Amino acid sequence: MSLRRFLLPLALASGAPLGAQQPSGAPVIDSASMWQSFTALAADSMEGRRMGTAGNARARGFLVRRLTAANVEPLVPGYVQHFDVVWRDTSARDGVNVLSVARGADTSRIIVVSAHFDHVGVRRGEVYNGADDNASGTAAVLALAQWYAAHPPRHTIIFALFDGEEAGLRGSRAFLESPPVPLRRIAANVNLDMVARLDKNELFAAGATPYPFFRPLLRETARGAPVTLRLGHDFKQSDGLEDWISQSDQASFHDKGIPFVYFGVEDHPDYHRSTDDAERVDAGRYVAAVRTIADFIHRLDESLDKVVPRHR
Ligand SMILES: [Zn+2]
Repeated sequence: MSLRRFLLPLALASGAPLGAQQPSGAPVIDSASMWQSFTALAADSMEGRRMGTAGNARARGFLVRRLTAANVEPLVPGYVQHFDVVWRDTSARDGVNVLSVARGADTSRIIVVSAHFDHVGVRRGEVYNGADDNASGTAAVLALAQWYAAHPPRHTIIFALFDGEEAGLRGSRAFLESPPVPLRRIAANVNLDMVARLDKNELFAAGATPYPFFRPLLRETARGAPVTLRLGHDFKQSDGLEDWISQSDQASFHDKGIPFVYFGVEDHPDYHRSTDDAERVDAGRYVAAVRTIADFIHRLDESLDKVVPRHR
């Protein structure tokens, strides 16, 4: 695959709104910066970011530099949480999560906003760039961290960039087995995985079936959203939609009884193929999707204590 140059639509480059009605105080996504991170992470030089590889370490270095430059506070020294993994060939490998935080006035309950940054690497000489899966969610979480570093939230928000999702949710499981904060303080998880390929201008939010208290907030978010936000994919045989709960890092939170909302798109023809490239992404729709998610996170932060019960 060749690296191509990407031209940002003018509306994005200038940061002009796309016509969405954002609630006041909601994060303003730096779309140019997000697009730059997205294309950097999805470049051939990152070699598909497979856990334990040089390309994965390069991607991690990029994330740490970005967070440092934006003055985002590290949650753990140097932003990195190492974990041991035994994977396939039984040799021990090192997995590394990248963790940062924006402290709120209320630190008693925490929201974890997450995305996995790893992908499946190089296969038969072909780089699997994993642009949608999940350079898209990673760059979105970076942009959110950048915004919240300068505009502190009401409740503390942890920005978790997980490694080893493709190897079986390894990073999120390690995070929850050795949590850097007491587990009972984590009120909710918002997980982003595949948020760029809005081929039908449609984004899904899963989680409101097991955690119905999210439904009104998601409905409010959907009303003003510049994309079609659909709820579902969160229980067996739900009107023919596949159950996605176990499909990404939200499963690790769900297994610990932590409520989650997962944002993502349905599988597309490039899913887990070497053609999941940045040039197949419509920048305007990707930014619109992230704005929608940012609005939801803002609403959740504002109303966390009313919405999410204290039950653990
Ligand atoms: Zn993924």
